[in-house]
Amino acid sequence: MIETLELTKCYGGFTAVDHVSFRVEPGEVLGFLGPNGAGKSTTMKMLTGFLTPSSGSASVCGFDVQKQALQVKQVVGYLPEGAPSYGEMTPRQFLEFIAAIRGLSGAYRKRRLNDVIGRLELEAVLDQSIDTLSKGFKRRVGLAQAILHDPEVLILDEPTDGLDPNQKHQVRGLINAMARNKVIVISTHILEEVSAVCKRSIIIAGGKLLADATPAELAARS
Ligand code: ADP
Ligand code: ADP
Repeated sequence: MIETLELTKCYGGFTAVDHVSFRVEPGEVLGFLGPNGAGKSTTMKMLTGFLTPSSGSASVCGFDVQKQALQVKQVVGYLPEGAPSYGEMTPRQFLEFIAAIRGLSGAYRKRRLNDVIGRLELEAVLDQSIDTLSKGFKRRVGLAQAILHDPEVLILDEPTDGLDPNQKHQVRGLINAMARNKVIVISTHILEEVSAVCKRSIIIAGGKLLADATPAELAARS
């Protein structure tokens, strides 16, 4: 479903991601674990087409991320790290806007909007400005836009970062529910996060891939 070959990104003379190769098979939830600055976000952005690799390649569902960017955008949902500001837009307006960008229309559009609003339990806040919502709700709005077009692959960058324990638990539950029929890659700097939701983890530090293991194997090492 996902394959990278010697994926590399340099910023000036600095190598942020250094010849990283890995595969993610159908049905997998992969943790992408590493300290801050390890190169996680840079890798996630190269999987979604937001960043161009300096060398190497990535493919998703058989589509080359560089050469078939449009197809890749259709099969991938992406939660960027942090909480981007959406100004005064409400979740309803924002999701309508994403539906329009995604080219969803008619009954299908309505069905998808109802599905994600229900799944992420956004009903109560649909008409409040996103900027005034709690971090937990903001993250749920971010997840809602990522899954609106029903993508096969989800790339989630630090999905629970900055949330309180209760919100973390909620978001992990949602990810586990979505994992039933999607391939998911979760970037995180928290070991506990990969133990909670991933069956396999890749460890990255200083831009280099250091290990590929199950959470139990990782816990045994630490
Ligand atoms: P992580 O997500 O693991 O915290 P990043 O992929 O964000 O790591 O960053 C990896 C390294 O690349 C860091 O040292 C970061 O400072 C650097 N970096 C990221 N983006 C840029 C950029 N646009 N220009 C220069 N350096 C960058
Ligand atoms: P599903 O298989 O998810 O129940 P459908 O059978 O309605 O959905 O549609 C199959 C696929 O066709 C959808 O996953 C979607 O990618 C695409 N699709 C269907 N209708 C539309 C539409 N009105 N706008 C954009 N894409 C659509």
